[in-house]
Amino acid sequence: MSIIIESDLCTGCGQCLEVCLFDALELVGDKVAVKDGCNLCGACVAVCEYGALSLPEDETPALSRPSHGIWIFAEQRRGRLSPVALELLGEGRRLAEALKIPLAAVLLGHQVRDLVPELMAAGADTVYLVDHPSLAQFLEEPYAAALTALARLHPPEIILAGATYVGRAFIPRVAAVLDTGLTADCTAFDIDPEKNLLLQTRPAFGGNIMATILTPRSYPQMATVRPRVMKKLPPDNGRQGNIIEIDLADLSRPFRSRFLETVSEITETVPLGEAEVIVAGGRGLQEAKQFRLLEELADLLGGAVGATRAAVDAGWISYQHQIGQTGKTVAPKLYIACGISGAAQHLVGMQSSDYIIAINQDPQAPIFQIADLGLVGNVFDILPALIQQIKANR
Ligand SMILES: Cc1cc2nc3c(=O)[nH]c(=O)nc-3n(C[C@H](O)[C@H](O)[C@H](O)COP(=O)(O)OP(=O)(O)OC[C@H]3O[C@@H](n4cnc5c(N)ncnc54)[C@H](O)[C@@H]3O)c2cc1C
Repeated sequence: MSIIIESDLCTGCGQCLEVCLFDALELVGDKVAVKDGCNLCGACVAVCEYGALSLPEDETPALSRPSHGIWIFAEQRRGRLSPVALELLGEGRRLAEALKIPLAAVLLGHQVRDLVPELMAAGADTVYLVDHPSLAQFLEEPYAAALTALARLHPPEIILAGATYVGRAFIPRVAAVLDTGLTADCTAFDIDPEKNLLLQTRPAFGGNIMATILTPRSYPQMATVRPRVMKKLPPDNGRQGNIIEIDLADLSRPFRSRFLETVSEITETVPLGEAEVIVAGGRGLQEAKQFRLLEELADLLGGAVGATRAAVDAGWISYQHQIGQTGKTVAPKLYIACGISGAAQHLVGMQSSDYIIAINQDPQAPIFQIADLGLVGNVFDILPALIQQIKANR
């Protein structure tokens, strides 16, 4: 299959040749023609002003929808559920209601049955439980084997997991074995009401655009989401559900990797993930010592200090404080952005904050578009005044 050319409409302008990354087009006389190597990326279709190029209709027969609903991987560590599992159940509930299908949590581990009621209270209709000694500690091979086997036994329509080090390590294996697609680090989901497909949105091209990705020709549709991007539901302890406990004989075989011990790394940790107030600084702070102002304000408000990549790259503050696409994702109750322009790569890491205050001397700074309260002015005038006022009020 290759691109369709309407020769009558082609003017031979050659623009499509310039955008084809695969050298799959050529001019024959004054008309474009396709050579080998067209992968139907559609770049030439988008650039043709004359409507001479189009993508062929997808003739792949639609697969029938699997009947076991939406699955959330219920990540747990040492018998405690990761917050992202509860956040995904909140989002999963919304999607399941839109698709009118059940929502299930998949709980893998050893002696973790006690977590089932919490999963039901968070929105799960069903909990698939695989309890096995091989799953006591996280290892990619047995976790991938368990989730793959479950998905073959009870095929789901969608699988969502946290983009944590656990999810990132084994979910791609599961997608590869199930021969389906996976969209990593999604920031939003929706449902295509006509085709009942999951619309998976994530930043692309360095965060400059938000791309919506579909998995139209295979099931399950799989995606990962960073912690703190989705909102969990208030727990409903009266919710009832089913437990489906599954014994997977395959988990008793030897795996190539073995758990030996956990070695905890002791580092200076910044509790950005848990902070209810974050005071963040950017290039507008101008030098490292100005971050003391942010620390003082954060201390007064019982919060933590965050930073943009520009401030981290300048060496003013360590990477542990970086918020954004290549840093942490946070969602505090209050986010105070000081001298931060509001680049897309920063916004993806903090735009779910409940209340955003922006201080910037440029009234056109993009951060003001998402701020609940914008202060146009010099951060070195506003921050000391704010600190003084808070101290005076105590
Ligand atoms: C692949 C990729 C990943 C990235 N990942 C991240 C990421 O994780 N996190 C991140 O933050 N960025 C990331 N970036 C960088 C991002 O594109 C921006 O360059 C960066 O966020 C800009 O930081 P800034 O707002 O501090 O600096 P600037 O964009 O330079 O903004 C500084 C702002 O300070 C204001 N200002 C200056 N002086 C004052 C003053 N005295 N008082 C008040 N306001 C003042 C200016 O008006 C300006 O708006 C990434 C980029 C790429 C390409």
